[in-house]
Amino acid sequence: MDEKDMGTDLAKVLISKDEIDAKLAELGAQIDRDYAGKDLLIVGVLKGAVMVMADLARTLHSDVTMDWMAVSSYGMGTKSSGVVRILKDLDTDISGRDVLIVEDIIDSGLTLSWLLSNLQSRNPASLEVCTLLRKPDAAKVSIDVRYVGFDIPNEFVVGYGLDYAEKFRNLPFVGTLAPHVYGG
Ligand code: 5GP
Ligand code: MG
Ligand code: MG
Repeated sequence: MDEKDMGTDLAKVLISKDEIDAKLAELGAQIDRDYAGKDLLIVGVLKGAVMVMADLARTLHSDVTMDWMAVSSYGMGTKSSGVVRILKDLDTDISGRDVLIVEDIIDSGLTLSWLLSNLQSRNPASLEVCTLLRKPDAAKVSIDVRYVGFDIPNEFVVGYGLDYAEKFRNLPFVGTLAPHVYGG
């Protein structure tokens, strides 16, 4: 979908495709430097991080391996339940590995802090986080996120992997929804 053709469901573009591309190139260069000479495993958190993983991985010049986890935290709505379930676990044994979790967004931080302690208990050599987006509430939980794309306002966003009721994931940009989509 083109940014000039957003349809009536979207209110505005918050972060354009060009801004995302530039930021991922920046983060990728930083990751290349930080993990030089290491055997990095990047872990994408399904489904939201699919786009970030695909585009970030292609900016990397080093050899990495990729794995995926699926966890559920929000269900179909827009509020965090705080309850995290593993829907799909890693295929990789991460013991002794350098692991970088790749996330779409950190909102309350509940999902990520749960995930971090879960993966930490598997004794990786190192465990860091890269997220495309971070909301202000994330600051309330003390999570050390090494790579952050954009700090965004406290609004529900869609696109670039992020959904509302499983829709809008395929938008190439990040935007906000028009109120009528929520039934408002
Ligand atoms: P947290 O546990 O940090 O509150 O939320 C993490 C997950 O909730 C994200 O991976 C994402 O799936 C979902 N989420 C949080 N904020 C948003 C948002 O603004 N838009 C969408 N589409 N999903 C969100
Ligand atoms: Mg996520
Ligand atoms: Mg979702």
